[in-house]
Amino acid sequence: MTSFQDFGLADPIARALHDENYRTPTPIQAQTIPLALAGRDVIGIAQTGTGKTASFALPILHRLLENRVKPQSKTCRVLVLSPTRELSGQILDSFNAYGRHLRLTATLAIGGVPMGRQVRALMPGVEVLVATPGRLLDLVQGNALKLQHVEFLVLDEADRMLDMGFINDIRKIVAKLPIRRQTLFFSATMPKDIADLAAQMLRDPARVAVTPVSSTAERISQRIIQLDHAAKPAALAEILKQETVGRALVFTRTKHGADKVVKGLAKAGIAANAIHGNKSQNHRERVLAAFRSGEVRTLVATDIAARGIDVDGVSHVVNFDLPNVPETYVHRIGRTARAGAEGVAISLCAGEEIAYLRDIEKLIRVALPKEDRRSPGQRDTSPAPQRGGRHGPQPHAARGSDGNPAPKRSRRRRRYGNGPSPASRPEPLRAAAGKSEGRNEGRNEGMQGVAFMQRDSRPLRRNPNQRPQQ
Ligand code: AMP
Repeated sequence: MTSFQDFGLADPIARALHDENYRTPTPIQAQTIPLALAGRDVIGIAQTGTGKTASFALPILHRLLENRVKPQSKTCRVLVLSPTRELSGQILDSFNAYGRHLRLTATLAIGGVPMGRQVRALMPGVEVLVATPGRLLDLVQGNALKLQHVEFLVLDEADRMLDMGFINDIRKIVAKLPIRRQTLFFSATMPKDIADLAAQMLRDPARVAVTPVSSTAERISQRIIQLDHAAKPAALAEILKQETVGRALVFTRTKHGADKVVKGLAKAGIAANAIHGNKSQNHRERVLAAFRSGEVRTLVATDIAARGIDVDGVSHVVNFDLPNVPETYVHRIGRTARAGAEGVAISLCAGEEIAYLRDIEKLIRVALPKEDRRSPGQRDTSPAPQRGGRHGPQPHAARGSDGNPAPKRSRRRRRYGNGPSPASRPEPLRAAAGKSEGRNEGRNEGMQGVAFMQRDSRPLRRNPNQRPQQ
């Protein structure tokens, strides 16, 4: 399969893919979509960043359309279980993006935000529900949701769900689902406990696996420049002038930031264009065409605007701002070193971003080379982590409480809902990861040594009777 047309996806879905600028299916999509369209259960070994979300979302949307019936009150047709609020939000974003021409009804059920809005959203019934396991059970137990009409079940990042202690919740949920359903099961690794869980949940599953993202990342030369915030514009200009830049993609966290960077570069005599959500589709296309043709060699983008950008020959990715979601770093740098080419990724890290850098290094399990250009007064400041729960075993408020702080969401996730932000991923046990590496040895069949996109090593398991927070 070399093109999305080969799958025969329904026209509104094909149009959405065109809108997203998806041209070629990724390997996990090429393998999974035909099997899922044929109604098979699938076990997929794939990490975030491989395009796995579309590999389940597209065939499910197609099959929903083949038999478009109105969901009954308090039910859903598709249930996607994911370990974290953050990932759940991204999955919902993807369903909404691929289903944008379908008038899809899709909603989230995640912990850490009030239940009332979720209860109301489920009242008329929805086609797609993306949920973290604990909140889902709360909704079922509170009579806000019935699971007997689920036709499609997706488990995403199953290994992480087990790591986080969700096994009992998952078993309880699966016990309430109809036996006749299609199940798509994704995990970055396939140790025995995950394989056992899959064996209990799937019927005659087809197996697919993709090369880890590490193979791309290994070709990217990554480095960090630590500096003061105020020094960033000059440092960026210097990189773009000095490095042998073919095409450079510069990432900023905000739209405003992207425009400011473009203005700053113009002052330094460097032509650049910004691409972000405030720009019209026409503008976006013009800018992309200029970038593709090499007319303008620097493109400044926010994460969401960059999603659909598929340009070969990006020699440099520069993170003007470091992302506060570590996976985003991996997505960003993956824009270079495409199609077997080499790439350079340089990140400017100032002030509080040091905490984001730690998260990134933890995820990729690599200590990135750093050049310290901070002014003396700034060097010793090692700011406390800004975002709840990311840097140590911290007590969380009771799951489902309304009182959780709601850190700023990344751009990518701002599209859904307009209620309180779901908190950043809590990952209650992540901090134990370093200690548990030894336990992991020999557990991951055939995936050992996959350093890059693999999650933190499996943390100590919690008491199986204790419900994790999410
Ligand atoms: P995922 O692994 O599902 O989180 O996807 C990683 C990123 O790749 C997301 O930003 C997707 O929007 C993007 N993506 C997924 N499939 C494709 C494709 N076929 N072509 C271009 N981008 C894609």
